[in-house]
Amino acid sequence: MECQIAVLGGDGIGPEVTAQGVRALEAMGKVFGHQFRLEYGDVGGISIDKHGTPLLPQVSELAASSDAVLFGGVGGPKWDDPNAPSRPEDALLQLRADLGVFANIRPVKVYPWLAESSVFKPQVLEGVDLVVVRELTGGLYYAQPKGRHETPQGQTAVDTMRYSEAEVERILRVGFELAQSRRGKLASVDKANVLECSRLWRQTASRLAPEYPTVELEHVLVDSCAMHLIQQPARFDVIVSENTFGDILSDEASVLAGSMGLLPSASLAGVPMEGRLTPGFYEPIHGTAPDIAGQGIANPIGSILSAAMMVRYSLGLTEEAVCMELAVDQVLMDGFRTADIAVQDSKLVGSQEMGDRIVAALESSR
Ligand code: NAD
Repeated sequence: MECQIAVLGGDGIGPEVTAQGVRALEAMGKVFGHQFRLEYGDVGGISIDKHGTPLLPQVSELAASSDAVLFGGVGGPKWDDPNAPSRPEDALLQLRADLGVFANIRPVKVYPWLAESSVFKPQVLEGVDLVVVRELTGGLYYAQPKGRHETPQGQTAVDTMRYSEAEVERILRVGFELAQSRRGKLASVDKANVLECSRLWRQTASRLAPEYPTVELEHVLVDSCAMHLIQQPARFDVIVSENTFGDILSDEASVLAGSMGLLPSASLAGVPMEGRLTPGFYEPIHGTAPDIAGQGIANPIGSILSAAMMVRYSLGLTEEAVCMELAVDQVLMDGFRTADIAVQDSKLVGSQEMGDRIVAALESSR
């Protein structure tokens, strides 16, 4: 297979981890005989510095014309001025909206051999295997009106939570479909006791449920979900939620895995189905980690597993994706750890060596 992939590393550790994601992708290509045309672009803070804007139109076009996008992260203290005319994050919001990738899929896998580096008791982590499906292009982060204005009493700020039934239905369907292909449990998260958007959400979920008879639907209030995720995470299979709740819950869920650095995500414009090609946007769930940027110690596994999700969903190559995931398993099983997941007696490695090890495991897998 030949395809074009846009590589947008961004800021901070973004380019460092993305470089390892690309290496793993190329190693897989060599093993299986696939060619990837990689096209690089600046995005976020680096683009503000070089071009005066977080997203050039040609980078947006590159993303739209590619089969998939591998993204690092954007932002950092250098661009945090609240009065700046544009921010690095604007690029990310714009790209997601332009590509129409409304479904953010975040699998949370707990590696048994990383249990020792977790803050949780082993019995809490037993059997944890869940996916958070987050609505990505609506709600508080996008809806208008949004902004700040002066009033006689001082400044007032406004953000708007707005969802149409169609937006709610399409993301809920992704949740139902995923649950159907997994253990058949869907937790639909809302705040229906307070928010009108959530009441629409809950009603829509209940309306769709009879179409998915093998899926057991549970309505969970977001505050209660936050608590259960820590107390009994194994009870969850698929969690589906609107944008803001999903953002917070998926970061919370990442703690179960041991480090944000381990977790991938896929943002898709439709229901993901193995073997069917869907354009998508792939990024680790973490940010740009300015505290460790430039030190070569960032964990690249989130980016490598994001590349594996790309291979599965956008390139339709299931065996190749599994091969990449098994290479990561193998290296972790062999005891190699970046600093974020290291414990005493770990074989401590930097980003590059973790990439080397995973590439070597991939190359020896066939
Ligand atoms: P962060 O995820 O960047 O970092 C949180 C903590 O996790 C830090 O201590 C960091 O060192 C650690 N960490 C994150 N990724 C790691 C990795 N791969 N390996 C090892 N340790 C890792 O979150 P933050 O500190 O809240 O945000 C920093 C910047 O990133 C901000 O400017 C924020 O806006 C931006 N951000 C961008 C995205 C994105 O582009 N998708 C997402 C979240 C945050």
